[in-house]
Formats: sequence, structure tokens, C-alpha cells
Amino acid sequence: MAELENRVAIVTGASRGIGRAISLAYAKAGATVIAAARNSEKLGSLAAEASDSRCLGRIVPRPFDVNDAGAVDKWIDDTASEFGRLDILVNNAGITRDGLLMNMTDAQFDEVLTTNLRSVFWLTRAVGKHMVRARWGRIINVASVSGLMGNSGQANYAAAKAGVIGLTKTVAKELARRGVTCNALAPGFIQTDMTNVLSDKVKEQVLALIPLQRFGQPEEVAAVAVFLATPAAGYINGQVIAVDGGLHM
Ligand code: NAP
Repeated sequence: MAELENRVAIVTGASRGIGRAISLAYAKAGATVIAAARNSEKLGSLAAEASDSRCLGRIVPRPFDVNDAGAVDKWIDDTASEFGRLDILVNNAGITRDGLLMNMTDAQFDEVLTTNLRSVFWLTRAVGKHMVRARWGRIINVASVSGLMGNSGQANYAAAKAGVIGLTKTVAKELARRGVTCNALAPGFIQTDMTNVLSDKVKEQVLALIPLQRFGQPEEVAAVAVFLATPAAGYINGQVIAVDGGLHM
């Protein structure tokens, strides 16, 4: 039996990068993946790719803006009734609005905090209710090494990701007795649209700090997200797993 057969997973930020890779890896492992992001066209082509590559599971596009606080509970309840269960939540949607502290505006700070942290709270609370009722669930939050180490130019982003780590550990403590685990991934420098915009100079500086001497691929993060959702990871709870080539240790 495929490791995630019969599981229903919600993956946010599924239209590109790491979320896209996680969605495909989950579908290959047999899950039904509710793929959420704002770009419905990209979600549609992701679903087509999953069916073309004959994944055991499938990808169902469900355009959703994670900043839409007022819509989260209904969206989750409707999804749970449509699919009959919600087993896995991957809070992956994220943005950057980089700038040095002295130049950072309130809007830049708030936008990143909302998308990268507040939405994780809203979705976890909404999905957690269904998981607690079912006495089983896996919540996987995509944090960042920036949340562990800080990063110049990312006061907003590092604060949000450190917040995600605190939230992860708290959820892990509160929900464990109901069979729900919660862990975080802390990717280092992964090649996606988010990092492609960085200058060659910045890329060179980061590369010099990575013991493995290369950037990571979205599939390398996805592999860990699959593992955390499988029965083999049943005793892992409240952990932050760096997928960073040794950047943070
Ligand atoms: P990416 O390629 O820029 O993709 C970001 C994803 O988030 C897209 O699918 C985007 O979809 C979605 N998203 C953004 N705002 C959203 C919103 N309001 N509602 C719904 N979806 C939204 O970034 P990535 O590199 O794959 O990053 C994925 C996660 O990994 C993020 O949380 C990021 O902070 C984290 N991370 C990345 C790296 C890295 O090196 N790449 C390192 C550490 C952590 P739409 O635009 O279609 O909405």
C-alpha cells in the first residue's frame, strides 16, 4: 500500500516552488491533495501534471487566499464535508518583502506577518478541530532557517518564521493527546521563485555558508514533508527539521 493512500492533505502555496513539489510528492504517495494558492491557472496545470504522471493519488485545485481570515473556517468545513476527512495540513504559503530594519515600513512588516504567520494560526485552528474530532492528524509548517538564525534584511520574515516555530511547538503540546502531531520544516536556500530574485552577489554569499556547497531543490524539502506524514514519523512531534545542506547547525 502507498504510504499516504486514503489520506486527504491540504497544501497551501501549492502553485509554485516547495508547495508544488510537496503536492506532487503527496499525490505520488497516494494522497488526495487539496492544492491551495491564489493562481488558479497554475493549480490547474499542477492537477493535470499529477494525472498525466499517473500518480496513485490526485491533486484537486482549490484557489484560496490564506490572508482571507473571514473565509478560512467555512472553506475548511466545506472541504472536510466534501472529502469526508482532513488528515494532513501543510502550511507552506509564504512571501518575502525584504528590506533593512531602518527602511522597513509597517505595511511591509504586517503583510509578511499576516501571510506567513497569522494565516498559519487561522488554518491550524480550523483544521485542528477536524483532526481532534478524528483523533488523528499531521500538521507540517514550513518555517525557515531565517526563523532560527535571523537574517539581515528580513526582520519581518524572520519574526514570522520564528513565530511559526513557537506556534508549532505549542500546537504539538496541545494536540498530541488527541493523536495530532505538529512539526516544522526549516528550509535553507531552496531554488524557487522566492530565491531566484536575489542578486548573484547575495547568492554567492549564501553559498559560501552552506557546507554542502549547493542550493537545495524543492523535491528535497518535499521528501521530508512526505516522511513526516507517514506512520514511520508517528513519534516525531514539536520538532524543527532543517533541510538546509548544513547551513544552520
Ligand atoms: P514561492 O516559489 O514564492 O511560492 C510561494 C507560494 O505561496 C506560491 O504558491 C504562492 O501562490 C503562495 N502564496 C503566497 N501568498 C499567498 C496567499 N496570500 N494565499 C495563498 N497562497 C499564497 O516560494 P517557495 O520558495 O516555494 O516558498 C514556500 C515556503 O517555503 C514559504 O513559506 C517560504 O517562506 C518557505 N521557505 C522558502 C525557502 C527558499 O529558499 N525558497 C527557504 C526557507 C523557507 P500564489 O502566488 O498563486 O498565491
